[in-house]
Amino acid sequence: MIPYKPERILVQKESWQDTVTSEILGRLPDVEVRTVKDSEIRPMEPSAVSTVQSRNKNTLVLMRYPGSFLKRCQGSGADTCCNYYVVSCVWNCHLDCTYCVLQSYLSSRALIVCTNFEDLINEVRETLANSPKRIFRIGTGELADSLAQDPITGFSRRLVSFFAGLANGFLELKTKSDCIANLEGLDHRGHTIVSWSVNSKRICRTEEEKAPTLEKRLAAALQCQKWGYKLGFHFDPLIYYDGWERDYREAVKEIFHTLDPDRVVWVSLGALRFPPHLIDYVKERFPESKIPYGEFIPGHHGKLRYFRPIREEMYRNMISWILAEAPRVTVYLCMESFPVWKNSFGRESCSATFVRDQLDKAVCSR
Ligand code: SF4
Repeated sequence: MIPYKPERILVQKESWQDTVTSEILGRLPDVEVRTVKDSEIRPMEPSAVSTVQSRNKNTLVLMRYPGSFLKRCQGSGADTCCNYYVVSCVWNCHLDCTYCVLQSYLSSRALIVCTNFEDLINEVRETLANSPKRIFRIGTGELADSLAQDPITGFSRRLVSFFAGLANGFLELKTKSDCIANLEGLDHRGHTIVSWSVNSKRICRTEEEKAPTLEKRLAAALQCQKWGYKLGFHFDPLIYYDGWERDYREAVKEIFHTLDPDRVVWVSLGALRFPPHLIDYVKERFPESKIPYGEFIPGHHGKLRYFRPIREEMYRNMISWILAEAPRVTVYLCMESFPVWKNSFGRESCSATFVRDQLDKAVCSR
């Protein structure tokens, strides 16, 4: 994997006071640095209108985020939601998967790192303390890959150590990278799940070109297993093409023949879905990609997705292949309706409460 190395760094004035800033600049000693005003920074926040497309990913922006870090996952609102939370302290990703929604969702192409990390920690600590009987599963992989930029940010070490001390909090670091060096030697106390977003080898090669191969992701997972971490996998997005059955079945086997199935707490499945305007970005940036040429219908949050019989066929097959290799693993669907859950799993008990309890149990018991 090509490590992220910016050509220039823009630092918001207030961010100079933060330890994160000095640590990051210390790791990038030969990169040009400039201080910028708030007015240059604000339009880059995720909520801003998409106007700052001129900056590219070679620009790293260090800024303080004044908003709330902890949010419900975007999947909330689907009939059967797994009740997941996200915290985002990095926005954007240099791995450039063709289907990545960040290219249409974020207002800036620059890679943005939030330097007021203490605010994030305080917010999570306070929220969890207010609901001590509830289990919180919290991930960092919503607006960036959790580990692809970690060699520069070093956030994983801080987060893993922080979550180790939370009785009711579990951290999920979701990645396609093999940047796991910072996870070595940490006293994680079973409160961190390192999970990989995986795909068939063909999709890894054609649509996730800059990310490590499936073999390399699994080698990194094996190392994390040796360090005692719980593991997770996300087949997301599942992509339908001629021969998908053979390729995905092979990927499932490769995962569970490489790793101890009992160390894997969960596997999620999510068929390809994206906002309609993403198609223009994909056609322009990745003319070779096959992503825009499937047949789609609008679904949850107006995103385009495959027709329901295709999704259910994919889920049914994947569930049976996964459970044949790892009967104790918890499998769940991402952003799907109750009828799709029911038809895919062949059972009635697919309520949001049931799914939440299954995942809470999985994360606490391994
Ligand atoms: S690894 Fe994830 S965040 Fe990064 S480009 Fe690919 S889909 Fe987007």
